[in-house]
Amino acid sequence: MIVILDPQLSNDSPETATILEYLRAMPGVTPKVHCVTGTQQVLTEIYLVGDTSTLDRNAIEALSGVSRVVKVSRSYAVLGRHAGDSRSYGFNYNGVTFNQDNLNIFAGLCAVDTAEHVERMMQAVAQAGLECTRMGAYKPRTNPYSFQGHGAECLPWVFELAGKYGIKVIAMEITHDTHIAEINAALEQAGHPTGVMLQIGTRNTQNFELLKACGRQNDHPILLKRGFGITLEESLNAAEYLASEGNRKVIFCLRGMKTNMGDPHRNLVDFSHVPVIKRMTHMPVCIDPSHSVGTRERAPDGLLDLFHATAQGIIAGANMVLIDFHPKPVSALVDGPQALTLDELDHYLEDINIAREAYLKRKDLAGQEN
Ligand code: PEP
Ligand code: MN
Repeated sequence: MIVILDPQLSNDSPETATILEYLRAMPGVTPKVHCVTGTQQVLTEIYLVGDTSTLDRNAIEALSGVSRVVKVSRSYAVLGRHAGDSRSYGFNYNGVTFNQDNLNIFAGLCAVDTAEHVERMMQAVAQAGLECTRMGAYKPRTNPYSFQGHGAECLPWVFELAGKYGIKVIAMEITHDTHIAEINAALEQAGHPTGVMLQIGTRNTQNFELLKACGRQNDHPILLKRGFGITLEESLNAAEYLASEGNRKVIFCLRGMKTNMGDPHRNLVDFSHVPVIKRMTHMPVCIDPSHSVGTRERAPDGLLDLFHATAQGIIAGANMVLIDFHPKPVSALVDGPQALTLDELDHYLEDINIAREAYLKRKDLAGQEN
């Protein structure tokens, strides 16, 4: 059960204290306070954890300062869709809107290597009219002896270049909670020329300490990758666990499943789950064709498998695309074989537009709203 307070009530107001006192006296339930920062206001919500079956919903709704009570109908209390829940769930970060209706493309380097490559990448992204990119500074690897990224040392010049080209959001994977402070310090020092979406990689979907650390901060949105060897439900539970710590600016990313059944692709492409996640939760859904497909193989129709997989996710309603590009893939330190080249960017975006228009037409025809 979620108790939504009147918008003008802050979490430390006397009315909130009285409501909390009332709820704490209820046997078997623990109230957990969440502050949700929207574009217009900060909303205080109280999540009632435990056995809520005996609670009198009308009595709670009648308390002064309570706007509404939402009965949680699924296991995802924070991120799930609940009957009668009309709150808006999208969010805005550093001037970019993320929700289940729109589409943002994050084309960029798998891993930061040289300043020249970062600059050429950002210039290409800006020229294509995009505002977001991906750039890994901390890289978890299949083989631990492979290059693990330049780490905190590259952050100052990466952020400075992002500012120079008007990039508003960089998706950047973190592998340890200390990386959040490193990113914050570098952003602060650079004067916040850009924003960072913290990415939790597939190897860390169930790293609960990292989930907690990301959930407890509200500065950055989170891109949570699906675990490559666990069920969808287990990955969604990880997202919910993160959000239940307080940060519900979470985007869920499909990146394929690790199994030989997907051969010759690097992972089994799982983009048919885009609408499933939208039905079960309020999270915007990202697709990562690069780490799903993993090669630059081309079909006889002339289209790269990467283009085909992207279109499959977009036509299913994906809200974000994370895609590896590189100015010179042969010299990339990470994942060169799956990178698109800068001269393929315009074609890639045009192909996405075709699929996106088809999706919007399909949605209209079905007469449904997301
Ligand atoms: C990545 O996006 O660079 C990455 C390492 O992805 P994943 O965690 O899905 O393997
Ligand atoms: Mn990669």
